[in-house]
Amino acid sequence: MGTVLNALVKLQSVENSLRAAKAKLTRCRRNVIIKENELRTFQNSLQAKQEEIQLTKIQADRLELELKSMDQTLAKYRAALNTAKSNKEYAAILTELNTNKADSSKVESQALELMKNIDADQVQCDQIKQQIELAKNELNEIRKQTEELAKKFEAEIADIERQWQQAARDVSAEALEIFRRVAETYDGEAIAEIEVHDHRSGIYTCGGCFMTLTTETANTLMSRDEIIRCPNCARILYFKDTEN
Ligand SMILES: [Zn+2]
Repeated sequence: MGTVLNALVKLQSVENSLRAAKAKLTRCRRNVIIKENELRTFQNSLQAKQEEIQLTKIQADRLELELKSMDQTLAKYRAALNTAKSNKEYAAILTELNTNKADSSKVESQALELMKNIDADQVQCDQIKQQIELAKNELNEIRKQTEELAKKFEAEIADIERQWQQAARDVSAEALEIFRRVAETYDGEAIAEIEVHDHRSGIYTCGGCFMTLTTETANTLMSRDEIIRCPNCARILYFKDTEN
């Protein structure tokens, strides 16, 4: 390998380390975001539960009022029973009284059902509050750990960036521009090794996209130290040194 391609291969190696270090930083910060989302989910479900309790309470209050007015009606019928002037009137009032009693007990059991729901929701609220407390503590812990780790990774990245600049000094401006563009397209992978399947029959493929390369492309690269790109994926091609 000549100096041009050699410098590019070295730059690629630093580029790989740089991308790996940046990925580590992103991964460690992602843990904070995941915990934050978890906390937000708990907070949202607590709010929803509390709103549900409010609505049920309004319903229960309405039933309570209804029951009170029903009680008054029942009291009126009971008083009327005492002043009934005939058996027929008495029987008619009694029927009314019993019908109203049945309605009242129906409303009463509805009200009880609602109170039971409120109690159950309240228990769930308490559980969610505990989960929120737990998640908050965990989030604080993760934030602390992440800050420390992030500092370490940032220092690592700064160090590798210096190495990158150093490695880039051995690459011409034009080649560096091509390197950057291809690296942007392929998630950092700007150069591809030519894979030799059979030297005698001359079957070569691009190590990046696995397309077959012409013998001419391979031969040119073997004899010249210059940038030759894969006609299919545009990666910079090179032969791995076999001598050393
Ligand atoms: Zn290719």
